[in-house]
Amino acid sequence: MANIKKVLRRIKDCMPSAYTSPRDENLFIIKNLVPKDVDWTFYPTLVEIYTWLDLIIQQHPKIVTGFQIGRSYEGRLIRGIKISFKRGKKSIFVESNIHPREWITSVTATYIIKELLSSKNPDVRKMAESLDWYIIPVLNVDGFVYSHEKDRMWKKSRRPVNAKCVGIDLNRNFNFQWGGETFDPSSMQYAGPHPESEPEVKQLIDFIDNGIPRGNIAIYVALHAPAQCILCPWTHTKVPPKNYKEMIFVAKAFASALRMRYGTKYKCGSSAKILRQFTGGSKDWAYAVKGIPITFTIELPGKGTKSRFKLPSKKILPVGKELLDGFVGMIEAVKKLGYI
Ligand SMILES: [Zn+2]
Repeated sequence: MANIKKVLRRIKDCMPSAYTSPRDENLFIIKNLVPKDVDWTFYPTLVEIYTWLDLIIQQHPKIVTGFQIGRSYEGRLIRGIKISFKRGKKSIFVESNIHPREWITSVTATYIIKELLSSKNPDVRKMAESLDWYIIPVLNVDGFVYSHEKDRMWKKSRRPVNAKCVGIDLNRNFNFQWGGETFDPSSMQYAGPHPESEPEVKQLIDFIDNGIPRGNIAIYVALHAPAQCILCPWTHTKVPPKNYKEMIFVAKAFASALRMRYGTKYKCGSSAKILRQFTGGSKDWAYAVKGIPITFTIELPGKGTKSRFKLPSKKILPVGKELLDGFVGMIEAVKKLGYI
């Protein structure tokens, strides 16, 4: 149980800078005053994730550094952590919950963080120490809180666009092949008025540009749900990218390592081929604009269940465990290719 001062600070970080009603503000404080300890038996709120991150940073002062990329449209802090066991390593960047309703992604990100720091499995230890890890468990913080408080199925950010419409699909707002199908503000896939128009996206880009040495990131992973697949570029076209063969080699290594534990099958291929074509997503931006050689969208499970985005909480641990296996397979394969 974290101390009350710290909890209050975190509640403030998770609140919008201006509440429309003092009643809502008080309700939010009361609701979050006793954050549950993250234990992978339930879906944590933003306050619970942030309080847990504080604990992790405090427990591993030499290995874990907290960072923040800035504040969301509504004024909430967007936080991440860096895990670094040794200097001079290449990096992996993991971005999660850009789509608020995909709750399985942030809770799985926290599970991966825990295992990187505490697993006794020699394969996991080797993996953890072979890279620097930048992990942002919740990128779309406004949408995530809104999904917890008001509308479980919310997918966009919370910036009003016009008198009737609120929100931008942040995974359509990156500056690569921006535009396409999604100019309608009422659409769930609205790409925004121009590329990088949204503070959450702009600040993520600024952090990667200014906070991490150029060429240091070898792998970029965007966690999504519920299509249960490992997707490489491109998303805007079915024409394969330059090192498609390498990326499929890595994706297959990921999928086969993941499958060992419970037999779960993740499909591998490009987004355009396996899911659907769209533009302005983070993975294609990371690959094309930042020149990161291995970039994936990993879609966690949920399809085939009664409500695809509401995976029962008893699934959190199995999904986390097999994903960790997948990461071990992926990073072994990237090593074989010589990128790390
Ligand atoms: Zn998504």
